[in-house]
Amino acid sequence: MPFDFDSLRPPSPFLNDSHRQWRDALRKFVERELMPHATEWDEAGAVPREVFTKAGAFGLLGAGYPEEYGGWREGYDRFHGIVTSEELARLGAGGVTAALMVHGIGLPPLIARGSDEMKARVAPAVLKGEKQISLAITEPDAGSDVAAISTRAERRGDLYIVNGSKTYITGGMTSHYFTTAVRTNGEGASGVSLLLIEADRKGVSRTPLKKQGWWASDTASIYFDNVEIPAENLIGGENQGFAGIMVNFNSERLGLASGATALSRVCIEEAANWAQRRKTFGKRLADHQVIRHKIAEMVQRVNTTTAYLEHCAWRVQNGEAPVADLCLLKVQASETLEFCARQAMQILGGGGYMRGGRIERIYREVRVNAIGGGSEEIMRDLAARQLGL
Ligand SMILES: Cc1cc2nc3c(=O)[nH]c(=O)nc-3n(C[C@H](O)[C@H](O)[C@H](O)COP(=O)(O)OP(=O)(O)OC[C@H]3O[C@@H](n4cnc5c(N)ncnc54)[C@H](O)[C@@H]3O)c2cc1C
Repeated sequence: MPFDFDSLRPPSPFLNDSHRQWRDALRKFVERELMPHATEWDEAGAVPREVFTKAGAFGLLGAGYPEEYGGWREGYDRFHGIVTSEELARLGAGGVTAALMVHGIGLPPLIARGSDEMKARVAPAVLKGEKQISLAITEPDAGSDVAAISTRAERRGDLYIVNGSKTYITGGMTSHYFTTAVRTNGEGASGVSLLLIEADRKGVSRTPLKKQGWWASDTASIYFDNVEIPAENLIGGENQGFAGIMVNFNSERLGLASGATALSRVCIEEAANWAQRRKTFGKRLADHQVIRHKIAEMVQRVNTTTAYLEHCAWRVQNGEAPVADLCLLKVQASETLEFCARQAMQILGGGGYMRGGRIERIYREVRVNAIGGGSEEIMRDLAARQLGL
């Protein structure tokens, strides 16, 4: 029996016709425009610019964003977001997804807290795929400890003067805007603001970083040397940026968890199909109990994670902010992915180790899922504190 991505997904009580229509349309777009090129783009280290405008015209970039800026959100809910993550995960190329969807972490703070003028200035071109926006929080001396950032923005008249640096920024080399965490007051969370910084401002420079996976998505260090930014580029109130960053993290974690869960399903698809074709010692791999059990355990873990994911999404959809569960879900999803990537790689044998296949790529993307958007240790600790420990 062929194992395909769809038959591996347990029936969901949360999905309706609108989700199914979005999935059908998006799948056609992915199969036509992205799937045939995913390996080539990952190897080349970039997604061509015209793919962004195609994704914009199709409505992928604008999904969930206000209509007045060129998005669509009539009838859109968290489960459309899960469908989007799943369909993009079928590429088995997290770098392509990270490149195309980087505005998914850079734009929401601006939409939620930016001025109307700023939203009208920035959002339409981003949602059309003509411009790109990144989220710039991490610094060489402040990763997990976001409240320790030291990039300073000093107010001088109508300007902020920005000095400091950011690192590991997705889209850092190619983005036109950075939603940037800056220090506008004393130490700690209460001195952090969010500032929109245009990449072409005098004093902004950037250098590319090479990494283990996600090759299609560029990553950079960014330097700010006396960069003058108009005060109207402040996103939300001064010294109130930390709350905005935290709210953004909730959505990012749900998105990362759904992507990791779908990648885990790709691992089962590849491993189970191979196990039914490949023969060793006179029988199919799937007929060896050890291999059968590996696949059964992958299904067991992915189905468990899917149930947790959908339950968290349902709670968020109903207005809750279940921070502890979102943190634990992210850990559950990245650990599931780590397990499934290992098992799939092992079942594929030497072939799995060869470049150009989905499993080899996914295996190299495990750690970014376990670290980016909040590492497993930090997620567990935050959850424990939220639970009152
Ligand atoms: C490919 C990639 C893309 C990224 N994209 C972006 C981006 O677009 N924008 C952005 O702002 N950032 C981005 N990041 C940065 C990412 O968010 C950070 O790497 C992450 O928050 C961890 O920070 P750090 O790397 O400085 O690790 P550290 O904070 O130095 O932690 C190192 C290790 O120590 C552990 N640790 C730290 N503190 C504790 C503690 N209190 N208790 C127990 N263990 C602890 C951590 O879990 C981790 O395992 C990206 C990272 C990667 C790898």
